[in-house]
Amino acid sequence: MKEEVFWKNQNYIPRKQLKKDLQCDYLIVGGGITGVSIAYFLALNGIKNVALIEKNHIGSGATGKSAGFLALKGELDLTQIIHKYGRKRGLIYWKGNHDGLKIIRDIISKENIRCDFELQPTIYGSIAGKKDSEVLGEYILEKDIEKDTELLVGKKLRKEVNTPLFEYAIKSYDHGASLNPLKFIQDFSKVVEKKGVRVYESTPLLKIKQNIALTPHGNITFRKAILAIDAANRSSKIKNLRSTIVITNKLTKKQLKSINLLQHKMIWDSEDIYHYLKITKDNRILLGYGDKQVHKRHKIARIHHPHIKRITIFLKKLFPHLSPSIEYAWSGDFGVTEDKIPVIEFKGNKVMVGGASSQIVCVMSAKHIVHKLLHKKSSLEEFFNPG
Ligand SMILES: Cc1cc2nc3c(=O)[nH]c(=O)nc-3n(C[C@H](O)[C@H](O)[C@H](O)COP(=O)(O)OP(=O)(O)OC[C@H]3O[C@@H](n4cnc5c(N)ncnc54)[C@H](O)[C@@H]3O)c2cc1C
Repeated sequence: MKEEVFWKNQNYIPRKQLKKDLQCDYLIVGGGITGVSIAYFLALNGIKNVALIEKNHIGSGATGKSAGFLALKGELDLTQIIHKYGRKRGLIYWKGNHDGLKIIRDIISKENIRCDFELQPTIYGSIAGKKDSEVLGEYILEKDIEKDTELLVGKKLRKEVNTPLFEYAIKSYDHGASLNPLKFIQDFSKVVEKKGVRVYESTPLLKIKQNIALTPHGNITFRKAILAIDAANRSSKIKNLRSTIVITNKLTKKQLKSINLLQHKMIWDSEDIYHYLKITKDNRILLGYGDKQVHKRHKIARIHHPHIKRITIFLKKLFPHLSPSIEYAWSGDFGVTEDKIPVIEFKGNKVMVGGASSQIVCVMSAKHIVHKLLHKKSSLEEFFNPG
């Protein structure tokens, strides 16, 4: 088993480090999906003088280490959203998630980003033997809003995914997509560069003094700085979670057929959203597991071995008749808030964003931030700032 991130982007040419002083209107700190999306939306709105700095390389944070599992209900399902925020506000957030996924899909198609993007049906399962399945309630609510949603039970469920683990599941369409997250983010950053954004790698922000950002080899004078550094933000509202991913050997068509996943689908456990699986473009099983809280000081996300042990058990329970070998495993950190809603703070000449915990939410937050910065109407305003 290789203890390394599976995703590769062979043709990627790293950007230069900032080596002189610079002036810009908007400085974005952080080259993950949040920062790059903010740069994209600024450029799309005709804003010219934008710079983005990244302390390592683009995608070196959570984005490039993620599973590339983009799904609505990823963090909060419809029941949880509506229960917490009421129907009107909840549906604004739900629609925002739909928009976030569509935005990613449109960017990939319009900008011709080759990142193994595949729209896939999602299967949101309820573990067998649970007395009171919340999935049934979720299905009733979702069906009211999304026409195509199906409830899967018994044989119908086995036909979609042949596992004894789930008793019920919800199958949804247009709710999920799979991609290679490293290729996506690095090639997306090239798109923003072509639109005029100056991108610097190996350029950590050391400190901000009034309207000057200090980096090791150059100071940046800015009008607004946007800190898109997720859990590295100082906010105590953002916790740092460590999650682990494993990738198996390539399955044969016969093996995929035996689990009814010849047609790729994205599957996860409704009780524990960090237990999920998808089939990669080259027919491997990708399994995600675990949300261990770690202190923000533990900067290097070494592989979390207890997760590997539990993933192996999870895999056995999912597909008892398959015995794939694990070829890659890695852990990574990301920010999450108590209520799974990102923290977005506008303070003087700085904007801070983090804790989105889902890349769809990162993109919708990025669009919201840019609209606010440019004094444009944001469809999410009523959600983030009700009343
Ligand atoms: C193992 C794992 C699997 C996941 N799987 C999924 C998934 O499948 N689907 C999904 O939706 N979400 C997933 N997530 C969560 C998701 O990846 C994150 O919520 C999202 O990528 C956060 O994006 P971001 O741009 O805010 O942060 P990041 O991608 O972490 O980007 C922040 C960037 O800021 C840089 N930075 C930090 N400090 C500085 C500084 N001082 N100066 C300059 N740069 C700095 C970092 O190097 C980093 O590149 C996963 C997370 C992990 C760890």
